[in-house]
Amino acid sequence: MGKPRYFRFDVEKVLAELCQDLNIPRKMIRLSTYTSSKLRLRNRLGSCGINVNHQGELTSYEVRIRVKGSSIEDQIEALAHELVHVQQYYRGDFTIKIKLHKVGNKERISYSEYWQGKNIRDWVCNSWKQYKALPWEVEAFAREDLLASKFSHIWN
Ligand SMILES: [Zn+2]
Repeated sequence: MGKPRYFRFDVEKVLAELCQDLNIPRKMIRLSTYTSSKLRLRNRLGSCGINVNHQGELTSYEVRIRVKGSSIEDQIEALAHELVHVQQYYRGDFTIKIKLHKVGNKERISYSEYWQGKNIRDWVCNSWKQYKALPWEVEAFAREDLLASKFSHIWN
């Protein structure tokens, strides 16, 4: 793994402002970085998931942003994009069903995600084109530029 594995701008400030603009609580966001995409779709610059406790309750949203091989502009846009997904949870468009299973004597947690009540597995996504056509992605891609544009002084 090469450098850098960190943000080259004041990410806390950007994150706080974006959370305010999107009306989502900063304290529910855990931010982490990755340096290379382990994702199936290599064009992706970020991801958004959830963290749960042992009782199967949601504790935070995990926003991961690729920091290696992406520009500051890309990173801020990716951050805005992933936070739109967090907002989609807050609005109730995304919902999660968490299941606790016992495997031997170990507890395992799995979850399913629904978009407007429909399991997200019901959408076909085998290509970048199909990915960008997913309804939650259409919105996130449509809004990321405008949300990020107020920070353009950082990369210009
Ligand atoms: Zn997305």
